[in-house]
Amino acid sequence: MFRRTLNRVLDEIVNFVLPNSCLCCESPIAPDERFICMNCFKKLEKFGLPHPWKEEFIAKSVIDNSLSAFWFREGTAIQTLLHCMKYEKMKSVGRMLGNQIGRQIAELNGMTFDYVVPVPLHKARIRDRQYNQSEFIAKGMSEVLNAKVLNDALIRIRYTQTQTKLNKAERKENVKGAFEVNQKHKDKITAKNIIVVDDVITTGATILECAEVLKKSGAGKIWVCSAAYAALD
Ligand SMILES: [Zn+2]
Repeated sequence: MFRRTLNRVLDEIVNFVLPNSCLCCESPIAPDERFICMNCFKKLEKFGLPHPWKEEFIAKSVIDNSLSAFWFREGTAIQTLLHCMKYEKMKSVGRMLGNQIGRQIAELNGMTFDYVVPVPLHKARIRDRQYNQSEFIAKGMSEVLNAKVLNDALIRIRYTQTQTKLNKAERKENVKGAFEVNQKHKDKITAKNIIVVDDVITTGATILECAEVLKKSGAGKIWVCSAAYAALD
């Protein structure tokens, strides 16, 4: 308990000290720039393409749209940002990325969303990391889109092995039946427009499984999105 508190205090100190220099290039940054300098931010590679699964899953009425804000490329600024968010608890980086996705969605059409739902982690993984980084992105999106975040709308009911070494078909199998809608929120999501969000999408297996579970539970329109899209090697 004490250790937890101490960790939290240390985090706050780190969060307070770090923003004086860019997370990506370490150059000093202006007080109104947070975590990343304008130069590095401009270098983030926008992902403007349709996801490979988009048409198929729209046709199957699982989703209504899908998008990612940036390309994920190893060794680039986006990797640094996502890493900081995942392992160094930089909540504000998640919010910044979420704001960016939110603005992108808002520019697309006048559709309104009721909820932003992060892809959940299994509780064993939460115990290791203490938090789900996608919740921070969801928060950033909700600020721009005026939608509520529903962090526990989905529950991961099965522990799944990390997808990194799996191919597309294995990933799909790996996450099958891994999620369910939280009974507590079942009525709340009926006919509601929902955006499901993750930090990185690769084959889309995980987030599309989440979308399917929500759809089967009676949700309205569903968009799936992420901060970054990574092509499968
Ligand atoms: Zn920089």
